[in-house]
Amino acid sequence: MNQFLEIKGLTKQFGGLTAVNDVSFSVDAGEVAALLGPNGSGKTTLLNMISGALAPTRGTIALGGETISSLPPHQIARHGVARTFQLVRILPSLTVAENVIAALAFRPSPLWGSAARDQAHALLAQVGLADRGGEHADDLTYIDQKRMELARALAAEPRLLLLDEWLSGLNPTELRVGIDLILSLRDRGMTIILVEHIMEAVRALCGRAVVMNVGTKIAEGPTADVLADPAVIAAYLGD
Ligand code: ADP
Repeated sequence: MNQFLEIKGLTKQFGGLTAVNDVSFSVDAGEVAALLGPNGSGKTTLLNMISGALAPTRGTIALGGETISSLPPHQIARHGVARTFQLVRILPSLTVAENVIAALAFRPSPLWGSAARDQAHALLAQVGLADRGGEHADDLTYIDQKRMELARALAAEPRLLLLDEWLSGLNPTELRVGIDLILSLRDRGMTIILVEHIMEAVRALCGRAVVMNVGTKIAEGPTADVLADPAVIAAYLGD
Protein backbone atom coordinates (compact mmCIF):
# COMPACT_ATOMS: atom_id res chain seq x y z
CA MET A 1 0.00 0.00 0.00
CA ASN A 2 1.36 3.36 -0.99
CA GLN A 3 -0.44 5.75 1.35
CA PHE A 4 0.11 8.98 -0.51
CA LEU A 5 -2.20 11.22 1.51
CA GLU A 6 -2.41 10.51 5.21
CA ILE A 7 -4.90 12.35 7.39
CA LYS A 8 -4.70 11.72 11.12
CA GLY A 9 -7.01 12.97 13.85
CA LEU A 10 -8.06 15.98 11.82
CA THR A 11 -10.31 18.38 13.71
CA LYS A 12 -11.68 21.84 12.92
CA GLN A 13 -13.64 23.91 15.36
CA PHE A 14 -15.42 27.15 14.51
CA GLY A 15 -16.09 28.63 17.93
CA GLY A 16 -18.21 26.05 19.71
CA LEU A 17 -19.01 24.10 16.52
CA THR A 18 -16.86 21.10 15.63
CA ALA A 19 -17.17 20.98 11.83
CA VAL A 20 -14.63 18.12 11.46
CA ASN A 21 -14.15 15.83 14.42
CA ASP A 22 -11.07 13.58 14.74
CA VAL A 23 -11.16 12.28 11.15
CA SER A 24 -8.47 9.91 9.89
CA PHE A 25 -8.12 8.26 6.50
CA SER A 26 -5.56 7.76 3.78
CA VAL A 27 -5.57 7.79 -0.01
CA ASP A 28 -3.20 5.72 -2.13
CA ALA A 29 -1.24 7.15 -5.03
CA GLY A 30 -3.30 6.90 -8.20
CA GLU A 31 -6.54 6.29 -6.33
CA VAL A 32 -9.81 8.16 -6.94
CA ALA A 33 -11.48 8.26 -3.53
CA ALA A 34 -14.93 9.65 -2.77
CA LEU A 35 -15.57 11.90 0.21
CA LEU A 36 -19.29 11.66 0.88
CA GLY A 37 -21.83 12.87 3.40
CA PRO A 38 -24.99 14.94 3.66
CA ASN A 39 -24.89 18.73 3.58
CA GLY A 40 -23.10 20.22 6.56
CA SER A 41 -21.16 17.04 7.34
CA GLY A 42 -17.78 18.77 7.03
CA LYS A 43 -16.58 17.76 3.56
CA THR A 44 -15.72 21.26 2.32
CA THR A 45 -14.06 22.12 5.63
CA LEU A 46 -11.93 19.00 5.23
CA LEU A 47 -10.95 19.95 1.67
CA ASN A 48 -10.15 23.46 2.89
CA MET A 49 -7.76 22.03 5.46
CA ILE A 50 -6.04 19.82 2.86
CA SER A 51 -5.55 22.81 0.54
CA GLY A 52 -4.46 25.03 3.43
CA ALA A 53 -7.31 27.56 3.20
CA LEU A 54 -8.15 26.61 6.80
CA ALA A 55 -5.69 25.64 9.52
CA PRO A 56 -6.67 22.50 11.44
CA THR A 57 -7.51 22.90 15.12
CA ARG A 58 -5.84 19.51 15.67
CA GLY A 59 -4.44 16.67 13.60
CA THR A 60 -2.02 16.26 10.73
CA ILE A 61 -2.06 15.94 6.96
CA ALA A 62 0.89 14.36 5.17
CA LEU A 63 1.45 14.12 1.43
CA GLY A 64 4.08 11.69 0.16
CA GLY A 65 5.41 11.39 3.70
CA GLU A 66 5.79 15.15 4.24
CA THR A 67 3.62 17.02 6.70
CA ILE A 68 1.80 19.82 4.91
CA SER A 69 -0.78 20.76 7.54
CA SER A 70 1.22 23.65 9.01
CA LEU A 71 2.03 25.26 5.64
CA PRO A 72 0.35 28.29 4.02
CA PRO A 73 -1.86 27.60 0.95
CA HIS A 74 0.69 28.71 -1.68
CA GLN A 75 3.27 26.27 -0.29
CA ILE A 76 0.71 23.47 -0.20
CA ALA A 77 -0.05 24.28 -3.85
CA ARG A 78 3.66 23.94 -4.61
CA HIS A 79 3.59 20.52 -2.93
CA GLY A 80 1.13 19.57 -5.66
CA VAL A 81 -2.34 20.06 -4.19
CA ALA A 82 -4.88 21.67 -6.53
CA ARG A 83 -8.64 21.99 -6.30
CA THR A 84 -11.76 23.08 -8.06
CA PHE A 85 -14.52 24.93 -6.21
CA GLN A 86 -18.21 24.16 -5.76
CA LEU A 87 -19.00 27.43 -7.53
CA VAL A 88 -16.89 27.85 -10.66
CA ARG A 89 -14.22 30.52 -10.20
CA ILE A 90 -13.01 32.09 -13.44
CA LEU A 91 -11.46 35.35 -14.54
CA PRO A 92 -14.43 36.41 -16.74
CA SER A 93 -12.85 39.33 -18.59
CA LEU A 94 -9.92 37.23 -19.82
CA THR A 95 -9.80 34.69 -22.61
CA VAL A 96 -9.92 30.99 -21.94
CA ALA A 97 -6.19 30.64 -22.65
CA GLU A 98 -5.36 33.60 -20.41
CA ASN A 99 -7.30 31.99 -17.57
CA VAL A 100 -5.12 28.89 -17.87
CA ILE A 101 -1.91 30.90 -18.33
CA ALA A 102 -2.67 32.76 -15.08
CA ALA A 103 -2.90 29.41 -13.30
CA LEU A 104 0.46 28.25 -14.73
CA ALA A 105 2.16 30.60 -12.29
CA PHE A 106 1.22 28.11 -9.55
CA ARG A 107 3.31 25.30 -11.01
CA PRO A 108 6.33 24.17 -8.99
CA SER A 109 8.36 25.80 -11.78
CA PRO A 110 6.21 28.63 -13.24
CA LEU A 111 5.95 28.95 -17.02
CA TRP A 112 5.95 32.25 -18.92
CA GLY A 113 5.69 33.51 -22.51
CA SER A 114 5.43 31.06 -25.38
CA ALA A 115 6.10 28.07 -23.11
CA ALA A 116 3.06 29.11 -21.04
CA ARG A 117 0.93 29.55 -24.17
CA ASP A 118 1.94 26.12 -25.48
CA GLN A 119 1.24 24.47 -22.16
CA ALA A 120 -2.13 26.25 -21.87
CA HIS A 121 -3.14 24.93 -25.27
CA ALA A 122 -2.06 21.40 -24.33
CA LEU A 123 -4.12 21.59 -21.13
CA LEU A 124 -7.14 22.95 -22.99
CA ALA A 125 -6.87 20.06 -25.46
CA GLN A 126 -6.73 17.63 -22.54
CA VAL A 127 -10.08 18.88 -21.19
CA GLY A 128 -11.77 19.05 -24.60
CA LEU A 129 -11.33 22.78 -25.26
CA ALA A 130 -8.78 22.57 -28.08
CA ASP A 131 -8.92 25.70 -30.31
CA ARG A 132 -11.20 27.50 -27.84
CA GLY A 133 -8.40 29.43 -26.12
CA GLY A 134 -9.23 32.71 -27.86
CA GLU A 135 -12.82 32.90 -26.60
CA HIS A 136 -13.83 35.04 -23.66
CA ALA A 137 -14.27 32.99 -20.53
CA ASP A 138 -17.68 34.44 -19.76
CA ASP A 139 -18.97 33.38 -23.21
CA LEU A 140 -18.43 29.71 -22.36
CA THR A 141 -21.31 27.41 -21.53
CA TYR A 142 -21.43 26.00 -18.01
CA ILE A 143 -19.79 22.67 -18.89
CA ASP A 144 -17.08 24.46 -20.83
CA GLN A 145 -16.42 26.76 -17.84
CA LYS A 146 -16.09 23.58 -15.77
CA ARG A 147 -13.63 22.18 -18.32
CA MET A 148 -11.64 25.41 -18.15
CA GLU A 149 -11.65 25.31 -14.37
CA LEU A 150 -10.27 21.78 -14.54
CA ALA A 151 -7.55 22.93 -16.95
CA ARG A 152 -6.66 25.66 -14.43
CA ALA A 153 -6.38 23.09 -11.64
CA LEU A 154 -4.27 20.81 -13.86
CA ALA A 155 -2.01 23.75 -14.72
CA ALA A 156 -0.53 23.45 -11.24
CA GLU A 157 0.66 19.91 -12.17
CA PRO A 158 -1.12 18.48 -9.15
CA ARG A 159 -0.08 15.30 -7.41
CA LEU A 160 -3.42 15.46 -5.58
CA LEU A 161 -6.53 16.91 -7.21
CA LEU A 162 -9.52 17.86 -5.05
CA LEU A 163 -12.79 18.04 -6.99
CA ASP A 164 -15.53 19.75 -4.96
CA GLU A 165 -18.83 18.82 -6.65
CA TRP A 166 -17.21 19.46 -10.00
CA LEU A 167 -19.92 17.38 -11.73
CA SER A 168 -22.90 19.12 -10.16
CA GLY A 169 -25.28 21.08 -12.38
CA LEU A 170 -24.51 19.10 -15.53
CA ASN A 171 -27.24 17.55 -17.66
CA PRO A 172 -27.08 13.76 -18.22
CA THR A 173 -25.09 14.04 -21.47
CA GLU A 174 -22.63 16.49 -19.94
CA LEU A 175 -22.36 14.30 -16.86
CA ARG A 176 -21.21 11.39 -19.03
CA VAL A 177 -18.60 13.69 -20.63
CA GLY A 178 -17.48 14.90 -17.20
CA ILE A 179 -17.16 11.37 -15.83
CA ASP A 180 -15.12 10.33 -18.88
CA LEU A 181 -12.84 13.32 -18.36
CA ILE A 182 -12.15 12.31 -14.76
CA LEU A 183 -11.65 8.70 -15.91
CA SER A 184 -8.98 9.94 -18.34
CA LEU A 185 -7.20 11.64 -15.42
CA ARG A 186 -7.46 8.43 -13.39
CA ASP A 187 -5.97 6.48 -16.29
CA ARG A 188 -3.01 8.87 -16.23
CA GLY A 189 -2.43 7.93 -12.60
CA MET A 190 -3.67 11.10 -10.92
CA THR A 191 -4.68 10.89 -7.27
CA ILE A 192 -8.10 12.45 -6.78
CA ILE A 193 -10.52 13.12 -3.93
CA LEU A 194 -14.02 13.55 -5.25
CA VAL A 195 -16.64 15.30 -3.12
CA GLU A 196 -19.83 14.42 -4.95
CA HIS A 197 -23.55 13.96 -4.46
CA ILE A 198 -24.12 12.21 -7.80
CA MET A 199 -23.89 8.54 -6.87
CA GLU A 200 -23.75 7.43 -10.53
CA ALA A 201 -20.46 9.32 -10.76
CA VAL A 202 -19.17 8.00 -7.44
CA ARG A 203 -19.88 4.41 -8.51
CA ALA A 204 -18.25 4.93 -11.92
CA LEU A 205 -15.13 6.67 -10.63
CA CYS A 206 -14.32 5.75 -7.05
CA GLY A 207 -13.07 2.39 -5.84
CA ARG A 208 -13.27 3.53 -2.24
CA ALA A 209 -15.38 5.97 -0.29
CA VAL A 210 -15.16 7.78 3.04
CA VAL A 211 -18.44 9.00 4.49
CA MET A 212 -18.86 11.79 7.01
CA ASN A 213 -21.86 12.83 9.05
CA VAL A 214 -21.98 15.82 11.41
CA GLY A 215 -18.18 16.12 11.27
CA THR A 216 -17.42 12.49 12.06
CA LYS A 217 -16.29 9.68 9.76
CA ILE A 218 -19.08 7.08 9.83
CA ALA A 219 -17.93 4.67 7.10
CA GLU A 220 -14.96 3.86 4.89
CA GLY A 221 -14.33 1.08 2.39
CA PRO A 222 -15.13 -0.20 -1.10
CA THR A 223 -17.74 2.12 -2.66
CA ALA A 224 -20.43 -0.54 -3.17
CA ASP A 225 -20.15 -1.71 0.46
CA VAL A 226 -20.18 1.83 1.83
CA LEU A 227 -23.25 2.84 -0.19
CA ALA A 228 -25.11 -0.24 1.10
CA ASP A 229 -24.15 0.46 4.73
CA PRO A 230 -27.32 1.11 6.80
CA ALA A 231 -25.56 3.86 8.79
CA VAL A 232 -24.73 5.67 5.53
CA ILE A 233 -28.26 5.29 4.17
CA ALA A 234 -29.67 6.59 7.47
CA ALA A 235 -27.33 9.62 7.39
CA TYR A 236 -28.46 10.55 3.86
CA LEU A 237 -32.14 10.04 4.68
CA GLY A 238 -31.72 12.38 7.61
CA ASP A 239 -30.37 15.07 5.25
P1 ADP B 1 -20.30 20.12 3.72
O1 ADP B 1 -19.23 20.54 2.77
O2 ADP B 1 -20.25 18.66 4.03
O3 ADP B 1 -21.67 20.56 3.30
P2 ADP B 1 -19.15 22.11 5.47
O4 ADP B 1 -17.73 21.71 5.68
O5 ADP B 1 -19.43 23.19 4.50
O6 ADP B 1 -20.02 20.81 5.13
O7 ADP B 1 -19.77 22.55 6.86
C1 ADP B 1 -19.63 21.78 8.06
C2 ADP B 1 -20.18 22.57 9.23
O8 ADP B 1 -19.30 23.65 9.52
C3 ADP B 1 -21.53 23.21 8.97
O9 ADP B 1 -22.28 23.16 10.18
C4 ADP B 1 -21.19 24.63 8.60
O10 ADP B 1 -22.24 25.50 8.93
C5 ADP B 1 -19.97 24.88 9.46
N1 ADP B 1 -19.02 25.87 8.88
C6 ADP B 1 -18.37 25.74 7.70
N2 ADP B 1 -17.56 26.78 7.49
C7 ADP B 1 -17.71 27.61 8.58
C8 ADP B 1 -17.13 28.87 8.98
N3 ADP B 1 -16.22 29.48 8.20
N4 ADP B 1 -17.53 29.38 10.15
C9 ADP B 1 -18.42 28.75 10.94
N5 ADP B 1 -18.99 27.58 10.63
C10 ADP B 1 -18.64 27.01 9.46
